[in-house]
Amino acid sequence: MIHPVFLIGAGPGDPELLTIKAVKALRQAEIVLADDLVNPEVLAHCPQARVIPVGKRGGCRSTPQDFIQRLMLRYARQGRKVARLKGGDPCIFGRGGEEAAWLAARGVPCEIVNGITAGLAAATAIGIPLTLRGVARGVTLVTAHTEDGGAPDWAALARSGTTLVVYMGVARLPATAAGLLEGGLPGDTAVAMIERASLPGQREIRSTLARMQADASCQGLRSPAILVIGDVAACSRFGVAAASLPAPARAARA
Ligand code: SAH
Repeated sequence: MIHPVFLIGAGPGDPELLTIKAVKALRQAEIVLADDLVNPEVLAHCPQARVIPVGKRGGCRSTPQDFIQRLMLRYARQGRKVARLKGGDPCIFGRGGEEAAWLAARGVPCEIVNGITAGLAAATAIGIPLTLRGVARGVTLVTAHTEDGGAPDWAALARSGTTLVVYMGVARLPATAAGLLEGGLPGDTAVAMIERASLPGQREIRSTLARMQADASCQGLRSPAILVIGDVAACSRFGVAAASLPAPARAARA
């Protein structure tokens, strides 16, 4: 009998941000393939399982995607209960969709268990609301790094009027800043950079679009980090210097 493969989001790092559904699935797993962004403390929920680390950090030695998929398939076909544990949410820059489709095409069903994606957790961890009435009507999650070397349409994002939450952005800060500035976003737009969100050693760097590259390099920003770009990034502990907000939000807060 083939059991569905669980694609589980382990959240941003803090083990308490795991869902109850994730914990239940981990308790039943026999084989756990764990990404390296997963906090090892999460593995306390599956002491019975054989854990296979399958890290894929950008630029580092990694386990090829094809190999990971074949491993999942092999164990599933052996009738084992397989869980694939990924940082954040499996379907936000996590290849969850790809893996589910690949397994489905081979007759193996998947169950996806959401996790809290790093962008949401990072903003909350330093007191930024990603949407705020009168300030930000939406949020765009975007990666600065694509496998084919392509870049996002920064000009369109600059015009979107949404808070931009940038994943995998540390190595692409100059291109990100240049693209958004050229796209018309003002140089004094607030930027917050959050390293190791929700983990011990979490750091935040407050900056602006014009200065973010200099501030990041001067303070040694390292991956994993999230960039939050937009007026809400001026918020701190959910409070704001009223003067730093556009007029409608000031009025709403009065
Ligand atoms: N599926 C994951 C994202 C994987 S892509 C999710 O939903 O969160 C890897 C990127 O996620 C990193 O380059 C970084 O931008 C971000 N990231 C993951 N964990 C993070 C953390 N604890 N703090 C800050 N950024 C993190």
